Amino acid sequence: MKAIALTILGACCLAGCAKTTSTGSDSTPVQEAPAQMSAPFDADSAYSFIARQVEFGPRVPGTAAHTACGDWLEQKLRETGCEVIVQRVTLHAFDGTPLPARNIFARFNPQAADRTLLLAHWDTRPWADNDPDSANHSKPVPGANDGASGVGVLLEVARQLNLAGSDKGIDILFTDAEDYGSDGDEDSWALGTRYFAENPPVAGYAPKQAVLLDMVGGAGSIFTREYFSNQYAPALLDDLWASARATGNEQLFSNTPGGAITDDHLELLKVGIPTVDIIGFSPDGGFLPTWHTLRDDMTNISRETLQAVGTTLMHWLSK
Ligand SMILES: [Zn+2]
Repeated sequence: MKAIALTILGACCLAGCAKTTSTGSDSTPVQEAPAQMSAPFDADSAYSFIARQVEFGPRVPGTAAHTACGDWLEQKLRETGCEVIVQRVTLHAFDGTPLPARNIFARFNPQAADRTLLLAHWDTRPWADNDPDSANHSKPVPGANDGASGVGVLLEVARQLNLAGSDKGIDILFTDAEDYGSDGDEDSWALGTRYFAENPPVAGYAPKQAVLLDMVGGAGSIFTREYFSNQYAPALLDDLWASARATGNEQLFSNTPGGAITDDHLELLKVGIPTVDIIGFSPDGGFLPTWHTLRDDMTNISRETLQAVGTTLMHWLSK
């Protein structure tokens, strides 16, 4: 994916209604914690975690690269000292293709009742079907931004939480089989998160909130108020955007209404978990031109974008 489900909101509204204040954006003052309270975030480290994933090759379920990268992700999370639960299941794509999927779920302080879930998809799209060269449409995307960036940021968050000795109940989920979908079939995306939401690996799992990172490393990205996040979790979105302001990242975290995106957050919203999708857009309102193309590679990953997202997230987690 991620298809813009409502094209009018995604492309038109951003271009035409940039001054419109979206629901909930300015209605409630949010207390901002001092930035120095939060643990640091090292964009170089996050960048290296992204590069390592890309080195495996496209992480398409059923491929050797996917298996090798999944093993590496499990290992990296275990190195942070958290409890790791691996959920393996064969899911089925829209065309019937069996997808050997692996959701990787890491828990910090599992005894804490109050829990926050951070997630990103680690699989990559098998087809570069947005590439300007149609000869590339059947080739897999490298997935540096679309997939690896969110995972790279969360690996760095996990590393920092461990170094800081955080006592908070924080869970990190690397979800699979997000990007094997078909345009026009909204249910064909986010298969791994749907499975996780319907079959939580911990009985009664009910985090009070969740934050999805998707395409958080692209050079030139901005983060607008994604439509479904703003509609169903406006207070959480306000709180995250307040942390962006508190850390000097208000230039990238815009109060502009954003497109409506079919993504993993919808599967969590469906089961009642307030979830915000921090997802990179192009300033023109669509996705960056590298989206679902062979150019979604490391040359288009920006440490500045990673730093903005990472420092915002660490600040928010420290509140
Ligand atoms: Zn995608």
